[in-house]
Amino acid sequence: MLAISSELPISNCQLIKFAVISEEEARKTILEAVRPLPARKLWISKSLDFFAAEDHFARLPLPNFDNSAMDGYTVVASSCRKGERLRVTGDQPAGPDRELRVSSGEAVRIFTGAPMPAGADAVVMQEDVTPDGDEIVINTDVEAGEFIRRRGCDLAEGQRILAKGERIRAATTALLASQGFTEVTVGGEVKAAILSTGDELVIPGGKLEPGQIYESNSALLNGLLKRCGAVVDSVEHCRDEPELLIEAIKRGTRNDVLIISGGVSVGEHDFVKDALRDLGAQIDIWRVAIKPGKPFLFGKIGECAVFGLPGNPVSAFVTFLQFVRPAILKMMGATDLDLPQVPAKLTVDLTNDSDRAHYIRGKLEHGRFTPVGRQESHALFGLSQSNALLRLALGQSLKAGEIVEVQIWD
Ligand code: AMP
Ligand code: MG
Repeated sequence: MLAISSELPISNCQLIKFAVISEEEARKTILEAVRPLPARKLWISKSLDFFAAEDHFARLPLPNFDNSAMDGYTVVASSCRKGERLRVTGDQPAGPDRELRVSSGEAVRIFTGAPMPAGADAVVMQEDVTPDGDEIVINTDVEAGEFIRRRGCDLAEGQRILAKGERIRAATTALLASQGFTEVTVGGEVKAAILSTGDELVIPGGKLEPGQIYESNSALLNGLLKRCGAVVDSVEHCRDEPELLIEAIKRGTRNDVLIISGGVSVGEHDFVKDALRDLGAQIDIWRVAIKPGKPFLFGKIGECAVFGLPGNPVSAFVTFLQFVRPAILKMMGATDLDLPQVPAKLTVDLTNDSDRAHYIRGKLEHGRFTPVGRQESHALFGLSQSNALLRLALGQSLKAGEIVEVQIWD
């Protein structure tokens, strides 16, 4: 851990000490400070991408009864050699069980998903049969068990079908529905507010004066928040004015999470820390040994988790993924808080000679990772062309051709 202690003057003339802490420490502090939101029941159709708040178990085996895997004829395999002629005694479509029986020398017409008649132990595909009046001729060898889906072969009754903390995906909702569930118990929904700060910023659609730029972090954060399942409740922009900032922060803290972009660095116009302190916030973190994103801030006002992200777009992006995303996932009840990691072959040599871990933006394509764009915290275009992050530890050197683990977020 880097522990460069610094003294931060604060408005009531006290001095407060903040150390630059490691990413691990920052993440630990944040995850200790946030709690899962209360669980609730949701209709299955509304549950996609939420996280299960309890284990769910199978009420029924899958399949629930022996049934046919094909459209064809169900037979007694031992009485059924190639060339055999069988009498068709009935038919069983998918649907209510007609409680038919098959004996040697007989066949019952059957369809995919239909329950197996008593006495039958194989299904012959209709493509392997020649119909002839109320008889069929078998054109293939038949083995017992063929084309029957046995009760419970996929899933046993009582087996766990959804673990607490697991994300609900489309196939999960289908599995729950197959069990007759109408609702599922999921974790809470995180409501988030976005607050961008900066006198230089103009909301897209407005007119740019010399020296001004369009505000783009709200769009970035809105997308990232939605990707990790949060609801964006308010998006606001505030000038670098302490009084306005205090009011805007107050409004933002009505949510579970407030994300402030810009104004957390050391400049004379960076008022976020002071505003938070004036509001009685508990500030747990200011500055983390991470590149880009060192001025990252985390604290709490009441139950609202407040994240101060540096204004440079790539810094905001990286610190969101490393610190905000896991916190939101924990609040939603997820078990796995990490970004997915995949192995990739590095295409260039890389060295981290900075004083912090460096997150390199790159393109992962066909298992190969190549840095893209300028590796600077303002370089939004490069970021927009990337789809993976490679973490280079302090002092780490890597050679082209090495296999590395990269984080993906798309
Ligand atoms: P700050 O963290 O406020 O010192 O801002 C650092 C850099 O990020 C400056 O170049 C800002 O103009 C830029 N920046 C801050 N906020 C935003 C934003 N919301 N959208 C685009 N750029 C921003
Ligand atoms: Mg600013």
